[in-house]
Amino acid sequence: MKLETLHKISYGLYIIAAVKDGKPNGQIANTVFQITSEPPTIAVSINKNNLTHEYILASGRFSVSILEKGAPMQLIGNFGFKSGREFDKFSGIKVKNLADGTPIVLDYALGFLEVKVVNQFDCGTHTIFFAKVIDAEILNSAEPMTYAYYHDVKKGKAPKTAPTYIREEDGKESEAINGEGPMQKYVCKICGYVYDPTKGDPDNGVSAGTSFAKIPDSWVCPICGADKSQFLEN
Ligand code: FE
Repeated sequence: MKLETLHKISYGLYIIAAVKDGKPNGQIANTVFQITSEPPTIAVSINKNNLTHEYILASGRFSVSILEKGAPMQLIGNFGFKSGREFDKFSGIKVKNLADGTPIVLDYALGFLEVKVVNQFDCGTHTIFFAKVIDAEILNSAEPMTYAYYHDVKKGKAPKTAPTYIREEDGKESEAINGEGPMQKYVCKICGYVYDPTKGDPDNGVSAGTSFAKIPDSWVCPICGADKSQFLEN
């Protein structure tokens, strides 16, 4: 079976946000889709281990921010690869708060939905929430980010908790030179990005052939924004 076939299914990229005890949390999701138009109903698949899952269960409400193509990896990294249990995802983020406290992320959103959970389905690792659209707004005319664009152009990865995560084939990551030495690869323990010295990170000023030790301390993970201390030998 070729699991990569599943990569050919197209999706968008969204921030799902909810509130519990006055505290907001949010996460990236790609599995938002419309189920019916009358009444307007959507579904989203959320990992049971995610804090947002707990918040949606508690409030029965959430928001969907539709991300635009220009959304930076930093934003996607913060919402997609970090946990609200140890990181304040909303610091410095433009948010609209609804009367019940449900947050709506406005940064790099071209529009949003405000929804109320009407049903849910236990799907093992994930819950599919079915939700009625209470309100919906278009904020600007930007193009929506697609999951393919995120992977192909922005070189994004899927976190292990994503419904669409596929394990990389064993050994694929370790083809090149491993072990101690300047060509040692390092992996970001937040998002799984692998720094390969033979390639460097030219988009962020690190030329090919730069060992991990020689990268300036100001450099951060191009996927999630974690600093160098979050990397381990791969
Ligand atoms: Fe990272």
